Amino acid sequence: MSDTDGKKPLGLRGGPRAGNVKQSFSHGRTKNVVVETKRKRVMVPKPGGVKPSMQSPVNSDPSKRPAGISDAEMDRRMKALQAAKEQEASDAARRKAEEEERAKNRERRRAEAEAKEREEREREDALKAKADEDAKRKAAEEAARARPADPAPAADPAAAAAAPSGRGAPAKPTPARKERDDGKDRGKPRGGARDDGRRSGKLTLNQALRGGEGGRQKSMAAMKRKQERARQKAMGGNVEREKITRDVQLPEAIVVSELANRMAERVADVVKALMQNGMMVTQTQSIDADTAELIIEEFGHNVVRVSDSDVEDVITAEPDDDKDLEPRAPVITIMGHVDHGKTSILDAIRNARVVAGEAGGITQHIGAYQVEQDGAKLTFLDTPGHAAFTSMRARGAHVTDIVVLVVAADDAVMPQTIEAINHAKAAQVPMIIAINKMDKPEANPDKVRTDLLQHEVIVEKMSGEVQDVEVSAQTGQGLDELLEAIALQAEILELKANPDRAAQGAVIEAQLDVGRGPVATVLVQTGTLKQGDIFVVGEQWGRVRAMENDQGKRVKVAGPSVPVEVLGLNGTPEAGDVLNVVETEAQAREIAEYREKAAKEKRAAAGAATTLEQLMAKAKDDENVTEMPIVMKADVQGSAEAIVQAMEKIGNDEVRVRVLHSGVGAITESDIGLAEASGAPVFGFNVRANAPARNSANQKGIEIRYYSVIYDLVDDVKQAASGLLSAEIKENFIGYAEIKEVFKVTGIGNVAGCLVTEGVARRSAGVRLLRDNVVIHEGTLKTLKRFKDEVAEVQSGQECGMAFENYEDIRAGDVIEIFERQEVERTLS
Ligand code: GDP
Repeated sequence: MSDTDGKKPLGLRGGPRAGNVKQSFSHGRTKNVVVETKRKRVMVPKPGGVKPSMQSPVNSDPSKRPAGISDAEMDRRMKALQAAKEQEASDAARRKAEEEERAKNRERRRAEAEAKEREEREREDALKAKADEDAKRKAAEEAARARPADPAPAADPAAAAAAPSGRGAPAKPTPARKERDDGKDRGKPRGGARDDGRRSGKLTLNQALRGGEGGRQKSMAAMKRKQERARQKAMGGNVEREKITRDVQLPEAIVVSELANRMAERVADVVKALMQNGMMVTQTQSIDADTAELIIEEFGHNVVRVSDSDVEDVITAEPDDDKDLEPRAPVITIMGHVDHGKTSILDAIRNARVVAGEAGGITQHIGAYQVEQDGAKLTFLDTPGHAAFTSMRARGAHVTDIVVLVVAADDAVMPQTIEAINHAKAAQVPMIIAINKMDKPEANPDKVRTDLLQHEVIVEKMSGEVQDVEVSAQTGQGLDELLEAIALQAEILELKANPDRAAQGAVIEAQLDVGRGPVATVLVQTGTLKQGDIFVVGEQWGRVRAMENDQGKRVKVAGPSVPVEVLGLNGTPEAGDVLNVVETEAQAREIAEYREKAAKEKRAAAGAATTLEQLMAKAKDDENVTEMPIVMKADVQGSAEAIVQAMEKIGNDEVRVRVLHSGVGAITESDIGLAEASGAPVFGFNVRANAPARNSANQKGIEIRYYSVIYDLVDDVKQAASGLLSAEIKENFIGYAEIKEVFKVTGIGNVAGCLVTEGVARRSAGVRLLRDNVVIHEGTLKTLKRFKDEVAEVQSGQECGMAFENYEDIRAGDVIEIFERQEVERTLS
């Protein structure tokens, strides 16, 4: 503009002696530049956004340049200024135009892609035919080598067609592509003239082979690439160069490297394209789907939007071919009542059978171990207890093949024994009964056997099918027989797995080790887990850095039914989490992130997972569901039995009620675990859930229903079973109060001095007296006092006095439950 006269004052659009020039840079930064008319050197901040190389040709007349360089600089400023302004104005317009064009282009490209695909297929066929020919006639190889010149030009226009199809996006991506195309030209064998030019700077294949000519040395990798390219050409056709339009699966967020991977483009190109679109990201960062879509289109591929949950699809659930299956060791869990000797039996087997020695006989505890029985391996889960069993089942890990139920011969079938039986039945896992403590003089194994009959466990000695073995963990008596029984049972089960696939396993236990980071004991269930494998486990992911077996030895591979300790996780998973090996780190991360998000949402929406209504809705949708599982706890054995009997009578051809577990006493965490694992609701008849169970139920979204009239319970279940249950809420718990002291007041009787621990106590509401979570009285209040005054309501955290109408047996430590009835019309079947 003003490069003819350096003396003229510089200013915005030639304005008179403007003192300030506002300089805008493309990234939104602006600077104020002071401009003087004198030929003094002007104080100008470094011109960051101006590319000198672009300016120099315009401003390159050195004769005109005055002594000071300020004018020249001024010029550049001016140009930069103008350029920036113009760019700003045009940017917005262009972006809009781009958007529109992109939409148009998408349609066109799709058509093009289809055409290209067809073309490709034809070409592939042609190539195949050619390859066949080649194989037949070795002599024709020379001729074949000369031929690739034909398909190559055909490939070029195809690639070229793909490139300008992103016309909306300015010439930006094209340089990169141009380069590649040029490279293709250069790569052509007959380029004599150009070869000369290249000799000055770059190395040709021949030069390199002849040795160090040509000034610059290229890296080995570059050489190899070149050789590879030459080889590819010789093989017939520039196949790898062909632009293939891909359907790119695009989730709601994607890691840049994975995006490149899915498009089969170079990561660097993708990062470059993103930068050109104003996104400064590295290959490990995530970008949102909209941005990714722009990039995918720019590269000429098709976008296939997928929902979040589809990320899990990479975990292949293909069934194994029968011929790939190989026998695997059974996995055994030991269950039973507390103190009946579970731990003792596990230890006794381990000490007797695990190869002692290297580790000084003290084997490292990794939550599972393997023993040998007649050459066959048996895997024991070293985590006795029902919680471990159910929590695993609840998390989808069906780990256990055989349950060993330990019953002490000097005791009998106890509540937890029954629970274990129910757990095993619910999981449909075969049982073996180990009648323990046979060394004790008072041992009475037959009592155990008859006791078991009552719970529909008929042992062999009673002409049933369940194996029973008399053992003593202390003397070691019968342990061999127990192992034999297990081996026999395993044989019947014909357990098999395919060792030649991506591994899947279950976490037996996991912890954060101070020195080694998160460590998980994983039982491989199918496939083979190898060092270096990338995996996702629950909400965590990682790469197998190292593995140790149950004897503390480093191993590189672990096949089906082998327990190993795995190092290399990015977080601590939970027992029961399923581990899946995937192909790439990006996939693993994507799945883990998705699961974390989903789990968060689930927790947020807890309370609505397993309600009776949903269960029934599910039962209706899924025609295979013919059983409605329930867990039931009651205050006394008589009620429990009566309810179970009534339950078993409910049902028709389609739906049957199945009592997974019934017992006496408060609803515990174990009940909730069982309910969760089987998707069952929990019924409390005159009993309540204890605090841990309540929390657990809230968290897991398990419905607990309380009843005090058998008819109501049976009726509800009956209606649920026929799909008629209305979403009624009969009772709302509005508060809980704990009795601190009991006073005798003349004229009133026993008055409870209480602290309202939850919600409110309301005079008009119904009340129940709970002792050890069992309902012992239900009625109304005679009085509700705060200090000396009769009040209608007392809030949580406050003390009050309460007395029951017609009921005197209250004790310190009892809990008063305050509820209100809400009448909802019932649907009668
Ligand atoms: P768990 O709670 O089921 O794991 O039971 P433990 O294995 O901890 O055993 C409870 C108690 O029973 C311990 O004091 C053991 O020493 C004892 N015990 C276990 N097995 C036997 C046995 O075969 N004979 C005798 N006499 N005592 C046993």
